[in-house]
Amino acid sequence: MKERLLLLFELHKIDKELQELESLKGDIPEIIEELTEKKDSHEQTLDRLEQELSGITENESVLVTQNSSLAKKIDKNDEVLRSGAVKSNQEYNALAKEIEDAYEHIDKNEDVLEKDIKIKKDELTNRINTLRTELADILSDLAQHEETLKALNEQTEEEEKELKAQRESVVPKVNPEDLEFYKRINDAKFGDAMAVVRKGSCLGCFNSIPPQRSIEIRMVERFFTCESCGRILISEELINI
Ligand SMILES: [Zn+2]
Repeated sequence: MKERLLLLFELHKIDKELQELESLKGDIPEIIEELTEKKDSHEQTLDRLEQELSGITENESVLVTQNSSLAKKIDKNDEVLRSGAVKSNQEYNALAKEIEDAYEHIDKNEDVLEKDIKIKKDELTNRINTLRTELADILSDLAQHEETLKALNEQTEEEEKELKAQRESVVPKVNPEDLEFYKRINDAKFGDAMAVVRKGSCLGCFNSIPPQRSIEIRMVERFFTCESCGRILISEELINI
């Protein structure tokens, strides 16, 4: 029984060390995940807005081209009218009407260019610039955190590998039932399944243990768990031997 308990304690020590290595990384992995999500969503929005902007720019250039050919048409008609080549009133009126229509069309186009298109373009450009600035910040923040995590991983990699190897050599020696028992308490206690009993107290929760129970725990007639915190108890004397 004592051997079985000591094996569990060995496993416990390894698990605690592994946990400490993991906690060195702090919340960096979560931060990286959040930043990556932010980056993706910014990139998607930027994509959409840039497409919208290029559609509007296309419209703009259609209207500008249209206006320039309308202006050419006006010039041409003007020239014809002034040249005196027009013979009939009907022909004259038709050309004059064309000029008038062209001016109207140009005005209408300019209205759209000045108001709708310019406003929309300015708004989109502002939003795109803001998003680009934000994205640059996100990317640099992300790169920084990734670098920190990489450095930490490199630092702990060797130790982690060694601890995992140790764990793999211990686990097969543990009685499967004991392992289940350990795992169950480990899950409930967030990876802290065992506590040492020192001078009649559980070091997991500092609850005092009656002297008779302390003796029983030291004798390891069976596994005992702390009545207060539920951890598997091991007497300090056993691990000092
Ligand atoms: Zn306790």
